[in-house]
Amino acid sequence: MIQEIASGLSAEELFERGIGLSYSDFTTLNTNFANTDRKDISLETELGKGIKLQTPIIASPMDTVTSDKLCIALALQGGIGAIHYNHKGEDGKPSIDMQVKEIVRVKRFQNGFIENPVTISPDMTIAQAIEVGEKNRIGDWVIRTFPVTADGNTNGRLVGLLRKYDYFRGSRTDLKVRDRMIFLEKLVVAEYPVTLDRAKEILWENHISSLPIVDGVCNLKYLVTRRDIEKSEQYPLATKDANNRLRVIFAVDTRPDAHERLDLGFAAGADGVIVDTSQGFTKYARDMIRYIKNKFPDKLLIGGNISTREAAKFLAEEGIDAYRNGQGSGSICTTAGAIGIARSPATAVYECSKLLVDTNVRTIADGGLREVGDIFKAIAIGAHCAMLGNLLAGTEESPGEVIIDRETGLPTKVYRGMGSAEANVGSCRGYTRLPEGILARVKYRGSIHMWVPLIRDGLIHALEVQDCGNIAELHRKMYAGELRFDKENQQSHDERKRSNLFL
Ligand code: 5GP
Repeated sequence: MIQEIASGLSAEELFERGIGLSYSDFTTLNTNFANTDRKDISLETELGKGIKLQTPIIASPMDTVTSDKLCIALALQGGIGAIHYNHKGEDGKPSIDMQVKEIVRVKRFQNGFIENPVTISPDMTIAQAIEVGEKNRIGDWVIRTFPVTADGNTNGRLVGLLRKYDYFRGSRTDLKVRDRMIFLEKLVVAEYPVTLDRAKEILWENHISSLPIVDGVCNLKYLVTRRDIEKSEQYPLATKDANNRLRVIFAVDTRPDAHERLDLGFAAGADGVIVDTSQGFTKYARDMIRYIKNKFPDKLLIGGNISTREAAKFLAEEGIDAYRNGQGSGSICTTAGAIGIARSPATAVYECSKLLVDTNVRTIADGGLREVGDIFKAIAIGAHCAMLGNLLAGTEESPGEVIIDRETGLPTKVYRGMGSAEANVGSCRGYTRLPEGILARVKYRGSIHMWVPLIRDGLIHALEVQDCGNIAELHRKMYAGELRFDKENQQSHDERKRSNLFL
């Protein structure tokens, strides 16, 4: 008879009081007999206000991470992105408008029914129509088919449709739209209300790719396109709202100009907001949270960043839905050196999520996640999802060019802390004299559409090995002491190499 003794440590034993652990300081052990079928494993997590992610990843609101392009790709893959607020206009001043435009582009991307489609008037020239299409680009994609309304407005009276087959981009662009459009009399349109399935049938039956939907007096209401329908079938995990639009959140700071950002961001269709501050346990954060809760009670509200139980209790009592857990742990972060306030990320996640375990408040592990295994570890010790900067900054869809590293010859992309002197250009974020972040580069990782499925594979495999069908089961096992851990004694773990930074 072999005597059974549990291997390693329980989470409670691992996180000894007073000693901070990072993700490289421990591993999870294979102590559970794997009897779960991979195909039955779900990575679903709920953020609050009914917003569910099939991939537990949020892109950090940083100007070298989230563009509309990245938020679109990540939402298609089941995560969600947070549009940052560090845009500068041509005058170098902070631009709310540019942040709002990015939100609009995400919300427009893949609608079953495109609300407020981009329209033109019959009196425009083809050249002007082409310009309108380029200005309203969605990610990489330029709009080429336009409903034509009498006054050019999006809900005006429909008079025709200008399709990409009706004009050349390089010649005879001085013709008027009315010279080339298909007139209403010859157009297939549908009258609202109509279901998406019926709209799809109409596209099919008529061999067409765009279907304007009008009201009883022929005012344009929506546009349905073959492209959007195909896209929605290609991405079954996509994070969408009730109107089939991709979800997106945005960040605001705690200063008064955030009020205007909030109005415009939510008017543009954003699903939630992050009160974005490195110190989330302050009167400024509290006032902003109260303002948002009062004015936009139905929207997802994310607080933080914090890293202690005291601050977690405060945020939970203020009524936030989720919070960013992590201070001073980001790979581009120098807060610990600058002001001496920081906490090892794994300890922070474990302690705070344990404190809030019986509430509906979700823990987002933010900072210090440098490998796919770190995301699993963060979730294994209580987080509900992970916020990524470093691990997404090197993707094709993040802002910026690919740069070949001089020493290694490998492709990289620029990644910088939002508290770095470089991101603070124009003093947009206040504290310029004592930077709390640096500028660096990270490995180029290819497209989100390749990279995020790989991350998902890693997380699913880890859940399979731990015999868990979902994140809730993993948490149950961890709190019951059935998930076992070892401390790692290789103190350095070659931190620099693992940080993915090219300094
Ligand atoms: P990473 O994925 O690089 O490890 O961490 C990303 C996180 O670092 C962000 O989500 C944010 O919480 C934090 N962060 C971003 N920029 C800065 C900065 O300049 N200073 C500090 N202290 N933290 C930052």
